[in-house]
Amino acid sequence: MISVHHGPQRYLQFPHLAQFPELVHGLFTRHGGHSQSPYQSLNTSTSLKAEQHDDADNVVRNRALTLQALNLQERPCVSLWQIHSANVIAYNSRDEWRTDWAYPSAYERSWTPASIHKADALITQQPGITIALSFADCAPILLYDPVERVISIAHGGWRGTARGMSIAVVEAMHDQFGCQPANIRAGIGPAIGVCCYEVSEDVRDLFLGRSIFDDMPTLPRYRDMVSASATFITLEAHSRSSLHLDLWETNRRQLSLAGLLPDHITLSDICTRCHVADFFSYRGENGRTGRFPVVMALKESA
Ligand SMILES: [Zn+2]
Repeated sequence: MISVHHGPQRYLQFPHLAQFPELVHGLFTRHGGHSQSPYQSLNTSTSLKAEQHDDADNVVRNRALTLQALNLQERPCVSLWQIHSANVIAYNSRDEWRTDWAYPSAYERSWTPASIHKADALITQQPGITIALSFADCAPILLYDPVERVISIAHGGWRGTARGMSIAVVEAMHDQFGCQPANIRAGIGPAIGVCCYEVSEDVRDLFLGRSIFDDMPTLPRYRDMVSASATFITLEAHSRSSLHLDLWETNRRQLSLAGLLPDHITLSDICTRCHVADFFSYRGENGRTGRFPVVMALKESA
């Protein structure tokens, strides 16, 4: 990964995405923001439990710092209400979207549920619009098709991945923008690693189709691929065995099953829980933590 410092902010880039001059992207560390513990410091999410949430003004200032670091501060920026689904939504200027992620209008500082779309992957072909999602252990999956010039960020926690998130986003890029999977480049960013991601047998059952989600069940056409992608290991320690999910490899396999070429998929190999000094980790901080931003945009002329 390429590490870039912008004053006190630090973000990472995938080398195979950074080679495209028309593409801007950054996966931010938690450094260089305004928020206080336990959100210190570059937290860009307010969608946390009501009884414990970060100061909304700090969140907005952090979002602005994020866009400034990438020189995107003059542009509209859209985001999603992330719900651990495999739902994909394409930004277009026809539907109603709030584009003031970092600079909300004074009379409506906080985004309300009504003004933000519920989904877990955001796609656009439109230069000049910035897309941003926020993470803490779930896998950020960045996709770019340099032929059709389509960008996407997907949010792959265990629930979204069990619902086929990586398959769904490639399918949507193909169906909505004509992207050929063999052209798509993907990067799987910092997320909780197999080293730290102990899960219950119920989780494996959902991946393998032995049980189904009560809500938003995995689509039938994804089930075989989700099952084939599922990567679990059993670790033995202190005379106890525990089941661990490999979120990186499971998403890599889903992208591969969706038609991406092996050489076009890059893993960051950074475990958020092992690197909690640099990244927010939901598991590592017992749920009391922030979310770090991942941002992509296409330049208007390149
Ligand atoms: Zn780890």
